[in-house]
Amino acid sequence: MCEDFDVAIVGGGMVGASLACALTQTRLRSALIDTLPADAASHPSFDERTVALTYSSRLIFEGLGVWNSISPLHAYPILRIHVSDRGHSGITRLDHGLVGTEALGYVVPNRALGKALYDCVATHPGCHKLSPARATAIDVNEDHARLTVESDATNRTIRAKLVVIADGGRSPLTDELGFKNSLTSYPHVALVSRVHTDRTHDGTAYERFAGAGPLALLPIDTKQFALVWTLDEEDAKRLRTAPEVEFIGELQNTFGDRAGIFSNPATRYQYPLALSRLTDPAQPRVVVIGNAAHSVHPVAGQGFNLGLRDVAALADTLYEAQRHGNDIGSMPVLDGYCRWRRRDTRAVGVFTDGLINVFGSRFSPLVTLRNLGLTAIELMPPVKRALLRRTMGLHGPRSRLGLGLRLSD
Ligand SMILES: Cc1cc2nc3c(=O)[nH]c(=O)nc-3n(C[C@H](O)[C@H](O)[C@H](O)COP(=O)(O)OP(=O)(O)OC[C@H]3O[C@@H](n4cnc5c(N)ncnc54)[C@H](O)[C@@H]3O)c2cc1C
Repeated sequence: MCEDFDVAIVGGGMVGASLACALTQTRLRSALIDTLPADAASHPSFDERTVALTYSSRLIFEGLGVWNSISPLHAYPILRIHVSDRGHSGITRLDHGLVGTEALGYVVPNRALGKALYDCVATHPGCHKLSPARATAIDVNEDHARLTVESDATNRTIRAKLVVIADGGRSPLTDELGFKNSLTSYPHVALVSRVHTDRTHDGTAYERFAGAGPLALLPIDTKQFALVWTLDEEDAKRLRTAPEVEFIGELQNTFGDRAGIFSNPATRYQYPLALSRLTDPAQPRVVVIGNAAHSVHPVAGQGFNLGLRDVAALADTLYEAQRHGNDIGSMPVLDGYCRWRRRDTRAVGVFTDGLINVFGSRFSPLVTLRNLGLTAIELMPPVKRALLRRTMGLHGPRSRLGLGLRLSD
C-alpha cells in the first residue's frame, strides 16, 4: 500500500509537531510520523523537562494559534536573568525592561507544549498522524521521496514531494542519505530536576557558571525552579541517585543562597550534550530541521528556539512555493530555506560553544577577562540590549510566524 502526501515529517517531537501545526495553515497535505504517541510516558521530546522559550518563540506560537492554550496556565515568564561566575565578582543582570517586552521569555513544561501542538493538528483533515510508527528507510527519486514506515509490525510506504527529517538525530535516515555532520560530544552531561525554594523568585532566572559548567535555575510556580546542571559524568551519576539531603547540600553549596534555601528535589534525569551541525541540511526532496540538523549546549536555552525558527522559515518558504506553483521539494526552493537559516544556525552554535569554553576555563587570564566582560556588560545597557535582542531571536530576517502572524496574513 502506498499513501501520497505533499510533506512527510519524520519525527513528531517538539520541532516536527510544530511544523505539522504550521502546515495546517497551508493547503499542503502532511503526514506526521513518530515512534511514540505524544502523551507516552517515555516520549523522548515531551518528557519531564521544561523548555525556556525566547520571546520570539512566543510570537511564533502566537502565529501558530497555540499560545493561548499554553499561556497562562503553563507559561512562566522570565522577567530578568542573573548571570554570575562562582567564586568571582563579575555579574550581569538582564531585565525585560531593557527591550520593552512583557518578558524576556517563558518557561514551559515540554509535556504542555506537546499537548498544545497535538491539539492543533488533532482534528485537521490535512494532517495525517502516524504513531507509534518508525521510518526505517528512504528512497529518493526525481519527483518524490518514498519512506518505509514500520507500524503495527507491518511495513507501509509513504510517498511525498518533500520529506522533512525532524527525528532529533535519532534515526539512521540522514546517514543513509549521506548528509555530512560535524559532531563534538561535550565531556559533560546535563542533570535535570526541579527544586523548591523558601523565597519567591519574582520571575528571575539564574545562570551560574560553576565547576564543570553552567547551573541554570528557571522560574516555575511561585517558589520552584527547573534545574539544568552541567556536570562531569561521574558527578552526575552520583548526584542523580544521591539521597535528597546530599543532592540539596551540593546544589546549595555550588549555587549559594542568592535564590533562597533549596528543598524537595523532584526526580533527576540525565542527558548527554553535543554540538553538531549538518554542513548542508537539504538535498533534492529532503530537508533536515531541528536537532537533527543542529544541536547545541543548553547553556543559554537556545536549542529548541533555534529549531522553532527553522520551522517558521520552512513553513513560510513552503507556503510561498505552493502559492506560486513551485515544486516544494526542488532545490531552488530548499536552497532559499537553507540560505535563510545558515547564519542564525552558525551564530547560535558559536555563541553557546564560546560560552562553554570561556566559562569552563581555569586559565587565570581568561578567568579575569570573562569577569571583566560580565562587569562591562553590566555597565553598558546598549550592549545588554543588543545581546538580549540576539538571544531572544529578535534579530535578523523574521518569518511571518516570527512576527506573530499567520502564514496567510
Ligand atoms: C537538558 C536539556 C535542556 C534543554 N533546555 C532547552 C531550553 O531551555 N530551551 C531550548 O530552546 N532548548 C532546550 N533544549 C534543547 C531541546 O530539548 C531540543 O532542541 C529539542 O528537543 C529538539 O527537538 P526535536 O523535535 O528536533 O528533536 P527531539 O526532541 O529529539 O524529537 C525527535 C522526535 O523524533 C522521533 N523519531 C526519532 N526517530 C524516528 C523515526 N525513525 N521515525 C519516526 N520518528 C522518529 C522521536 O520519537 C522524537 O519524538 C534542551 C536540551 C537538553 C538536553
